[in-house]
Formats: sequence, C-alpha cells, structure tokens
Amino acid sequence: MDNTCAVCHGHAPAEHYLCDACQYRMRSWLREITRQHPLLRAVLRPDTGPAQRGGSGRAHSPLPVDVRVLDILGPGHVVPWIDAHGDQTGGVPLEPLLYGWARYITKEIDAPSVRRDEHGTVRIQPCTDPWPHGGSSVPGWCAWLQAYLPYVARQSWAPTMYDQLEDVVNRIQQLTHTRPRSRLMNAPCPGCSAITLRELEGQFHISCTGCSVRLTREEYDAHRASVMPVLVRTALLMQAQQERARRAAAA
Ligand SMILES: [Zn+2]
Ligand SMILES: [Zn+2]
Repeated sequence: MDNTCAVCHGHAPAEHYLCDACQYRMRSWLREITRQHPLLRAVLRPDTGPAQRGGSGRAHSPLPVDVRVLDILGPGHVVPWIDAHGDQTGGVPLEPLLYGWARYITKEIDAPSVRRDEHGTVRIQPCTDPWPHGGSSVPGWCAWLQAYLPYVARQSWAPTMYDQLEDVVNRIQQLTHTRPRSRLMNAPCPGCSAITLRELEGQFHISCTGCSVRLTREEYDAHRASVMPVLVRTALLMQAQQERARRAAAA
C-alpha cells in the first residue's frame, strides 16, 4: 500500500485506503442520512395539488405514495456488497444498505461477543449479527457505522462502501430537494488572491472555486488571521485617502 487514498488519490495515513477528507465525507453522509430520514417519510405522500374545480376528472386515482421514496425506504434485500461489476448499487433501499454493511463489517472483524447468561456464566460466542444501541433503525445503523469508520478506512473494500453511501445520499437529496449548504469565505484565496474560497457542508476542506487550493479549517483560520489585518488596514487607509481627497475638492 502506498498511502494513496483509493477514492480521491490524495495522501492517506499509513495502512489506510481512505484519506482524512474522504473519511470525513463518509461520516457527514451518515449524519446527513439520519437528519434526512424524517424528511423522506414526510415526502412519502406525494403532493397531489389542490382539488380542481370543473375538471374533467381523472382516469386513474393518484398513487397513494411516492414510489421513488418507497424505493428508498422499502424493505428490499441485502445485496452482495463487494460487487465486482459495480452494477448493483442503484436502487438499494436505505435500511438494507446500512444493515448489510454493518453485518459485513461484523463478519469481517470476526469479533466474539461476550455476554453473561441468566445464571451469571460468561458465554463467548462468535458475533454474527450487529446490534446498534439505538435499536434497529436507520439512525441506529448510521450511528453504528460511524463508530466503525476508523476500521472501515483500513479495508480494501472501503471505496465500495464510500460509493454506495454517496449514491444513496444523492438519491435522498434529490427526493427531499435539499442540497449541501455552501458559504463564501471572506479571506482571499492564498493561491489566486480572489474571494473564491468556499466552505461546503459535509466537506473536510475549504476549497477555492477558481484554482486547486484546499485548506483545512485550521489552515484557513491561520491564513485568515495572517492576511485579514493587513487587508483591513489597507482598506481603512484607502478610505481615509478618499475622504481627504473629497474634502480637498469641496474646499
Ligand atoms: Zn480521499
Ligand atoms: Zn484560488
């Protein structure tokens, strides 16, 4: 392994298949799925619009639910995750996707489960089924998978999980008509000097939209602290000069 991220080809920590930025993105997607899950349920019933007066009537009743949302919330099947042909990611419903990965991870780790039976005797059994603290639910599986991301990032199949999560988050955002929030930063880009640095929700880096500069939050704060006082002083000096020129012209 040459410490190259298998997703973005950036620098990954030793023995890792994912860099810090790609791990951060996966964590953000799992949080996003938890946040969006109630919205998905809310859009399950399609808006059929206000009743039409004097219309000619419908040939068919409208569907009682939005089938695209059902497709993502529906029961579905746990699919084979390591898909050599890469053609089985589309249309996998949400909970089987999350549960399927949790189950796959549990089997890969092969960790024994230790518990006490009703007589107080310690029983050690092979752990075959994961179980989230919050119970079997979309938020429960998202929390479970977040806890195992440090393990996932060291596995050769991590990019497959990355792609499937990205796909499902894109599908959810299309259904709920939500996009990640973006914020223009006020310090100029250290690469191209334009005010083009943007912070995008769920992304590890603040990136320039005009050149290839990428900064972590800490790097941006340090950059901002070094350039902004100079810029503010220059702006104040220019303002004072303009004011003097205006007064001289008026005198
Ligand atoms: Zn990466
Ligand atoms: Zn730039």
